[in-house]
Amino acid sequence: MNIILLGPPGAGKGTQARRLVDERNMVQLSTGDMLRAARTSGTEMGKIVADVMDRGDLVTDEIVIGLIREQLTTGGAEGGYIFDGFPRTLAQADALGNLLSELNETLDAVIEMSVDDDVLVARITARSTCASCGEVYNDITKPVPADGKCSNCGGTEFTRRADDNEDSLRTRLMAYYKQTSPLIGYYYAKGDLTSVNGLGEIDEVAAEIKAVLG
Ligand code: AMP
Repeated sequence: MNIILLGPPGAGKGTQARRLVDERNMVQLSTGDMLRAARTSGTEMGKIVADVMDRGDLVTDEIVIGLIREQLTTGGAEGGYIFDGFPRTLAQADALGNLLSELNETLDAVIEMSVDDDVLVARITARSTCASCGEVYNDITKPVPADGKCSNCGGTEFTRRADDNEDSLRTRLMAYYKQTSPLIGYYYAKGDLTSVNGLGEIDEVAAEIKAVLG
């Protein structure tokens, strides 16, 4: 089963994707994670995208489609793929459709996670991530455990994303509304779209997603 998690920054796509990885043996394909990894390892592409990402703008379709193509054509995923943060433009959505049909794969569901904008700002500015395993924490709703150890892997180092500040979040939200939200209509028209309320507790949202996927 291949699915897309669609929603603005801070909607909880990454958190829910990680649960699906654990519970269903699916593979998470996050273009944001891939781009951050390219920056950390200092590749040419990582250098090109750094400023764009810090500003909160979208990197080019060509780059992200290339990353996804590489993953889909080299790796296998028994439980299927979760596309997290991809596609973000109509051109990316078309490219994904073409790529999946080239590989004789299907797109089985597009789950839109809807959350109010003021909640997104509060969530994102309070977000931190375990440097070892990527578990996501939130100062208010899911703080790092009192012993300072990640509940998933025991790691003790936590980082905040360079683009998780109010300025770049405004740009990311604008990019979402201008370039990504048209995908809601696109997938609705294709009959693939289901919306879930991303405002609930993590377990509640997970249960809603489970009801969609069966
Ligand atoms: P994310 O981790 O999904 O919030 O992505 C972080 C940043 O990476 C975004 O603000 C964009 O600059 C870039 N990015 C990630 N995925 C895409 C994509 N599919 N298309 C364009 N830019 C992307």
